Amino acid sequence: MLIDGKAIAASIRSKVADEVSSLDYVPGLAVVLVGDDPASNIYVRNKTKFAQEVGIDSYLHYLPAGSTVNEVLEEVWSLNADPTIHGILVQLPLRGLDAQKVIEAIDPKKDVDGFHPLNAGRMMIGLPGLRPCTPVGCIKLIKTVQQDLTGMNALVIGASNIVGKPMAQLLLAENCTVMHAHIHTKNLPILARQADIIVVAAGVPGLVQQDWVKPGAIVIDVGINRVEGNIVGDVDPAVQKVAGAMTPVPGGVGPMTIACLLENTVHAAKNS
Ligand code: NAD
Repeated sequence: MLIDGKAIAASIRSKVADEVSSLDYVPGLAVVLVGDDPASNIYVRNKTKFAQEVGIDSYLHYLPAGSTVNEVLEEVWSLNADPTIHGILVQLPLRGLDAQKVIEAIDPKKDVDGFHPLNAGRMMIGLPGLRPCTPVGCIKLIKTVQQDLTGMNALVIGASNIVGKPMAQLLLAENCTVMHAHIHTKNLPILARQADIIVVAAGVPGLVQQDWVKPGAIVIDVGINRVEGNIVGDVDPAVQKVAGAMTPVPGGVGPMTIACLLENTVHAAKNS
């Protein structure tokens, strides 16, 4: 069974639109883009487009390639101080700049990507806060096929700060037994075969193979890889033959990331 992330994301966006229309002010989302990376340009355009569609005012703040970290910080500080802006997103990667410094400059209450250390720490100890959009989207997708994850064996492949680590935290918070793999992990297929849930965010096309997957397992493919002009995931499409449920690429996790960003923006606005 393929999990239709596109349709699930559309229904989340429609709920967000209802929530926005019930407010007596318009939430504001600022997206900061530095440089002219083509993929970042597409992501940013989609984020601002969907924000407008649900009634969020979205503003693109473009800084040219070659901008200094101080110039980016000044933009962030000015957005922090702007009461019409409830969410700030700095599109990553920030090539050649200290991204951590920029992330830490964002007001944690406006940190709709959920990357600020304060929000990461709150997530770790189970306090409310803004959570990273992609992992939250993955949890929502998993829950469309399995409501209660208690006691399930989950494998997360990939340990970045923006996807893999928060993903493992959120699965732990759902009472899963979490195995966490990364580039140095040995015997990955053996670990994978024990998993009821596999979330892969490695950036390696077709990494997860059919014979790695326990029959009936839920497989969530976060990977976005460009191969010969096509977008492919980190999971070999043949995994569909054994998985109980699996997300396609494209049309799986990607649309959920944006839908959860819009949800975060409304939460941030309500808490402002
Ligand atoms: P990253 O490069 O920062 O991290 C990759 C992680 O995978 C690392 O922890 C690394 O140790 C691990 N890894 C790499 N090769 C491995 C291997 N062979 N076996 C086991 N582990 C391995 O990447 P990221 O930013 O976390 O993104 C991962 C993928 O997810 C990319 O394809 C990216 O484009 C995609 N992504 C998608 C969305 C979305 O909305 N769908 C959002 C963010 C990232």
